[in-house]
Amino acid sequence: MNAPATPHSIALGFNDKRIREVLSILGLDAAHHALAEQIRAEVIAGRAGELVNSCFATLARTHGFSLIEKDIGSDSFKQTWVHYVQCFGRNFDTAEYFEERLQLSAAFARAKIPLSVLHLPYCLTQELLIGSLSDKFNENSRTLWPLLDAVLKLISLDLYLTAEGYRLPELDELEEDLDKLRKETFRLQRRTSTDELTGVMSYAKLMESLEQQIDRTHRRGHDRSPLCLIMSDLDFFKKINDTYGHMMGDLVLRHVAGRIQSATRNFDLVGRFGGEEFVIIMTDTNLELATAIAERIREAVMHAPFHVKRFNIRITISLGVAMLRQGERKESLLERADAAMYEAKRSGRNRVVIA
Ligand code: GH3
Ligand code: MG
Ligand code: MG
Repeated sequence: MNAPATPHSIALGFNDKRIREVLSILGLDAAHHALAEQIRAEVIAGRAGELVNSCFATLARTHGFSLIEKDIGSDSFKQTWVHYVQCFGRNFDTAEYFEERLQLSAAFARAKIPLSVLHLPYCLTQELLIGSLSDKFNENSRTLWPLLDAVLKLISLDLYLTAEGYRLPELDELEEDLDKLRKETFRLQRRTSTDELTGVMSYAKLMESLEQQIDRTHRRGHDRSPLCLIMSDLDFFKKINDTYGHMMGDLVLRHVAGRIQSATRNFDLVGRFGGEEFVIIMTDTNLELATAIAERIREAVMHAPFHVKRFNIRITISLGVAMLRQGERKESLLERADAAMYEAKRSGRNRVVIA
């Protein structure tokens, strides 16, 4: 699975266009690459540790910061900050730069550390850089002013991204609410015959058809018209949602349903049993053939990534196959297929197990 390298940026809508907009508002342009490099060369190279020590010495005396020092693991935070200072302004116009700032900020926000606390080290760093530059170039204002201007603009960018990163936990909560809503929608949808998201049979229709087909098999005889059922469940689907968001998860589900349908015969009945669980009812089909079809579904899902939006998402599926026994009812058949599917999960996923 090729997960996006910039999940926080994506969640907050920082695509290339938005990044350009933000930089333009702050007055940052290509010329600032050279200025940032000059700042690093003149006042940071070889003394990032010293700058950060001095920054943290001031922080330690700050009431708000000393209170939460133990919560943020100040040693690792210091390391992070040394890295930040060493790379000051480097590649400031890339998605990766945005991502790094957002990630740090989101980690603080999730740890419930007030935004103002994270602002402090940025402000102190700004003060130290301006002080160092002023000491070095106080005679030469033509060199000094553009450098000071660059420091202010780059720190403004970082402060802006810090504030944006604090929105991420709110978005997580919103996602949880949406998840509840989706479950409720799915529950209601079970009553109609087509599953709206994937286009396969709804749960209600699936159960109704299964009941009918089981009666038919019992009437006609199992030898003449054997009935098989596949229970399938996508592997590690939660990770897809966690990585790409629920909307993308939904699109992946739709694509998977399409592939399952293409891998089955036109008289097989494909339905959505649960969130990312599909059931296939196969009439007049013996266990051997049903297993071959299950294998075909497994391969169809696995063989190529799903192209969704601009991502290539790989996913696999685990399947359990069961053949209806004499006198058996649907609950028991489903249970056996489910147990086989569970066994497929347990023994490594991406496989077919026969009940
Ligand atoms: P496993 O290999 O053990 O099956 O791992 P899994 O992550 O797939 O775990 P499980 O089957 O228990 O969980 C399925 C997840 O699928 C949980 C839920 O967030 C997600 N899911 C269920 N229904 C939907 C849906 O309609 N849309 C989206 N996007 N996600 C769903
Ligand atoms: Mg699953
Ligand atoms: Mg599941």
